[in-house]
Amino acid sequence: MAVGRKTGNQAPARAGALIVAATPIGNLGDVSTRLQSALRSAVKVAAEDTRRAAKLLESVDARARLVSLHAHNERSRIATLLRGMLAGEDLVLLCDAGTPGISDPGMRLVSAARSAGIRVTPLPGPCAAVAALSVAGFPADRFRFEGFLPARRAARLARLEALKQVTETLVFYEAVHRIGAALKDMRAAFGGGREAVLARELTKLHESIHGGTLDELCREAESGAIVAKGEFALVVGGAVEASGDQDAAALDSALKVLLDELPTRQAARLAAALTGVARRAAYQRALDLKRPKQAAE
Ligand code: SAM
Repeated sequence: MAVGRKTGNQAPARAGALIVAATPIGNLGDVSTRLQSALRSAVKVAAEDTRRAAKLLESVDARARLVSLHAHNERSRIATLLRGMLAGEDLVLLCDAGTPGISDPGMRLVSAARSAGIRVTPLPGPCAAVAALSVAGFPADRFRFEGFLPARRAARLARLEALKQVTETLVFYEAVHRIGAALKDMRAAFGGGREAVLARELTKLHESIHGGTLDELCREAESGAIVAKGEFALVVGGAVEASGDQDAAALDSALKVLLDELPTRQAARLAAALTGVARRAAYQRALDLKRPKQAAE
């Protein structure tokens, strides 16, 4: 296998490898055969939470030595871990759940190992962002992973404001106690008509996936229809690029007729099919056209 060297350093031929292994995000059934055998044959496993990792190892009958590697000790552990690998020891790197390095520790160790010429190889598997994206039904040929928003409201709003015009699908992680506030701030920044999907407790017993506009999701969060418990990933549709004048005129005239006869969503779907404009753009335009009417009613 060809492995690009970051610096041209050459590790000794007997050096071990760093295996960056993804673990389940809530369902032990997602432990792959490859992960099982990597854990069973590993001598050393670096894990964010060694007690949690011990349970995983036990579940697959693996007896590797566990060392802790988390956000607060990653820097200081690197030298020892590199020495072990340079001396021929393979090291499996795990985080609490999902893929190491994705809003989790691991990047520094991976970077140092690559710089030392050590082979770094992925053992791919679950990742909450990708799992949420896969069920959102939004374009994912290009997307933007934003991870956690800042905890402070002013910083969060500033971040969202900066993302307002991004046309790619956006993926966020959010802590349970901030999910309602995050939805409201997204509504303030992106507009209530923006479509989003809130993925809760993916792969677990109480998995639920709520789709709708930010207006609808805010209402559901407030009413308790979305249970405020567990882990959340949020997928938000990108900003709609302004279509050409002709498209816009054709869309408006189709919508004006259809909105008199049909519910908004249906009218938008039909107008999109008639004009070739993207469904999401048609829906957003339909909401805009309806707004002054509703205000006057
Ligand atoms: N490295 C992980 C990955 O690959 O997905 C992410 C770690 S990050 C510290 C944890 C966040 O991921 C949670 O706060 C939540 O936003 C999201 N997450 C993790 N498991 C999830 C699940 N089962 N369902 C929904 N979101 C999840």
